[in-house]
Amino acid sequence: MGNFNITILGCGSATPTVRHMPSAQAVAYGGRLMLIDCGEGTQLQLRRFGLPFSRITDIFISHLHGDHFLGLPGLLSTMALHQNGGTVTVHTFAEGERVLRQILNVFCKELSFDLKFDIIDPSCEGILLDGKHLSVEAFPLRHRVPCAGFIFREKPKLRHIDGAAARFMGVPVCDMQALREGHDWTAPDGTVVPNGRLTTAPSHAASYAYCSDTAFADSVAEAVRGADVLYHEATYGEADSHKARPRGHSTAVQAATIAKAAEVGRLVIGHYSRVIRDEEALADEARAVFPDTVAAREGMVIEMNNLR
Ligand SMILES: [Zn+2]
Repeated sequence: MGNFNITILGCGSATPTVRHMPSAQAVAYGGRLMLIDCGEGTQLQLRRFGLPFSRITDIFISHLHGDHFLGLPGLLSTMALHQNGGTVTVHTFAEGERVLRQILNVFCKELSFDLKFDIIDPSCEGILLDGKHLSVEAFPLRHRVPCAGFIFREKPKLRHIDGAAARFMGVPVCDMQALREGHDWTAPDGTVVPNGRLTTAPSHAASYAYCSDTAFADSVAEAVRGADVLYHEATYGEADSHKARPRGHSTAVQAATIAKAAEVGRLVIGHYSRVIRDEEALADEARAVFPDTVAAREGMVIEMNNLR
């Protein structure tokens, strides 16, 4: 239903560099805008890429490390200055709600919109959003603190009416919805016409998986199996591969190994360590394992429509 795209707002890791911003992404779906993580400077990045704050309905925080969270107090206090009404739901761990409420109680006592919290279970599992056309599900990653990955899945779509066939058979407009839903059609004389003669297959329901900070784990491949696009952190290259596991991070080759095992459509890597100076060289390491890999950069838009 409508446009489905992701804008990369930040794809650096915790230590600041002038090459990248810390983690944040904006997911546009239909008319709504959702954020995944909210590192420092996210509000400026939203401005830079022309994404209006007023459309933000949900903010998903993967874990409580500063480079994924500390842009949130600033963003919410700016929204409190300009926004009238509406609801913003922050999906985070219980500790995240506690900390954010304390900060807002000092800096931003009066909010001009309804701020809600949806607490992510410590197991990092569960459905966080269940809309008419889209769901968002959490799954556990392997990091130094509890850390959730997220999958944005379009719901199965309706079948397309074959206009010529429907006209020829004389199907009335009031029966079209049942056809779109896959039911057979019964003509006035009692003849049952199979659905497949009056409709064609529905458009592909796309899925986007986000793995913020994680060490390599087979369970991640299971969780993201078959996603059209997987964003997986690739903090380190092969030269620093020894640093990855002790710090709860992955290499580009490990991200590609997950993408290959999970049979995803495309891999996007990011969360670059400050020592990464050549993102394309890092992506080349991944492409040796999983060819359809791209290196994230700020401002990149991933179009999820018409993937198949
Ligand atoms: Zn982290």
